[in-house]
Amino acid sequence: MAGTMLQPLYKSLASLEPEPQLIDYASARAGFSWAAARAELAGLPDGGLNIAWEAVDRQVNEGRGDALALIWLGKTGERREISYAELARASNRFANLLERSGLGKGDRVCVLAGRVPELLVTALGSLKAGAVFCPLFSAFGPDPIRVRLAKSQARLLVTTALLYQRKVQALRGDLPELERVLLTDGGGETGADSFHALLEAEADHRPAPRTRPEDSALLHFTSGTTGTPKGALHVHEAVVAHRLTGRLVLDLRPGDRYWCTADPGWVTGVSYGIIAPLANGATLVMDEAEFDARRWYAILERERVNVWYTAPTAVRMLMKAGADAARSHDFGALRFMASVGEPLNPEGVLWAQAVFGQPFHDTWWQTETGAIMIANYRSQEVRPGSMGRPLPGIEAAIVRRRPDGGADRLGPDQEGELALRAAWPSLFRAYLHDEARYRQCFADGWYLSGDLATHDADGYFWFVGRSDDVIKTSGHLIGPFEVESALLEHPAVAEAGVIGIPDPVAGEIIKAFVALKPDHAPSERLRKELIGFARTRLGPAVAPRELDFVDDLPKTRSGKIMRRLLRARELGLPAGDLSTLEGADEANA
Ligand code: ATP
Ligand code: MG
Repeated sequence: MAGTMLQPLYKSLASLEPEPQLIDYASARAGFSWAAARAELAGLPDGGLNIAWEAVDRQVNEGRGDALALIWLGKTGERREISYAELARASNRFANLLERSGLGKGDRVCVLAGRVPELLVTALGSLKAGAVFCPLFSAFGPDPIRVRLAKSQARLLVTTALLYQRKVQALRGDLPELERVLLTDGGGETGADSFHALLEAEADHRPAPRTRPEDSALLHFTSGTTGTPKGALHVHEAVVAHRLTGRLVLDLRPGDRYWCTADPGWVTGVSYGIIAPLANGATLVMDEAEFDARRWYAILERERVNVWYTAPTAVRMLMKAGADAARSHDFGALRFMASVGEPLNPEGVLWAQAVFGQPFHDTWWQTETGAIMIANYRSQEVRPGSMGRPLPGIEAAIVRRRPDGGADRLGPDQEGELALRAAWPSLFRAYLHDEARYRQCFADGWYLSGDLATHDADGYFWFVGRSDDVIKTSGHLIGPFEVESALLEHPAVAEAGVIGIPDPVAGEIIKAFVALKPDHAPSERLRKELIGFARTRLGPAVAPRELDFVDDLPKTRSGKIMRRLLRARELGLPAGDLSTLEGADEANA
């Protein structure tokens, strides 16, 4: 990808905007220490640390209790405001309830709900009580729910009456460890209690938490893009990295209106949908409704969103909806826009520049890393197609694993596995019930990400592909992202997924699956045109040899293209773990 360097993009900084939180990258790196980042936190007596305390109570204790922690937008037009003081009290009640129920240190509390305020209260209250918070995506069907509840050994679940009746009630017999179920909007159901009635009965104050930095805090299941989802365990110390990246990367400051569109069922929706913004005193905007381009533009304008964190799949959907939908809106409050989860196609960065007058800033991280590791910063040039540069405090490199279990560092423009020097505060501490797999992630002091990338001489990292998705054709190693991005530059293409299929001569040949924009229809002519278009951009060795039109690409519920499923379907192989496939179990959702 380093070859596709386009013009650097800057946002023209309006004079009223505050200076970026990170101005000089080189000196921020040189002068960085994790101890200093840690010292920015309030902390607890005797060296204790608690994520929820840093996120909420700290703000209240420092005089920001009346500031808004949350603006909640309901599906049906409702709008609620919740202050930091109210959130502190509600989460105290939840923590008190857990204690009264005999739950505490290390016990798992799961949530299965849409984007509702009770989710925040449960997350923060669980953390205060020393329990481990584990979100489950609300559109999961009964089977993925059962597997995750069983794997996490959840003792308590917060959900809604509808989700309980449809998906959980029948599983209770298989889940002996699940003692209690609380319903955010009911309570008459067999085996479940009312969340609100129980919280009402609890005191809204409690002593400071007693958690230690290395106590377990969060359990996140990965997206399942490459296989069966893994449970990654994080500790309270992670909040050092949440707060730091919220400030340095997302450029957050107290009072900012901040919208993270990720669902809290995934790591982004918790680390950056809840913790990082609250730990920086920002106001969360949380929208209960599903994606809708017009609704999103209206929210950005009406709520005067300053900082917006979204995903490439959403960017592609906005592009598909057309620039007209955005035209009548005033995005004057928007100061910073960022994206995560998948490679951000250069086309998306450039489109944003035209529609919003500023680029999306790509950021890279994983469930395992717990926080943003590589980013494009507000004060720096954006190189479209690049993930940016490592966070101050993070050493990133491209390495090649050796057969003896070690890892060798590679130089600029050499393709290899993206690795990070261990350790940092938000690095995961375990894969649940899979110590061997956890150990395989480390070599010679590096954490190995499983993603392939390169870096250029200026230290910008360029994503190539997941090691599982990379295509080997006629002696070349090709990342699907590069091919997909080239196809996306064609005006008819809305989305593209690219895989390798076995070929006796070339090893693998490249095949593309393309979904068209609404006003374009598949035809043999267009198929040839797209292959030709890719050839002129990429050269014959890298361009797809075959191309099929599809209505939609298979995606994970967090919006990532599932290339392994495209491959399995193409080759008639078993589909593998489909628990996180978007649209699966929709009848039950
Ligand atoms: P699983 O590990 O179960 O296969 P997953 O890796 O998709 O699922 P997550 O932890 O949610 O689960 O996603 C992290 C991965 O997402 C990264 O390893 C990377 O492949 C991809 N990713 C995230 N951000 C970016 C980015 N900015 N550019 C390219 N890829 C990204
Ligand atoms: Mg992964």
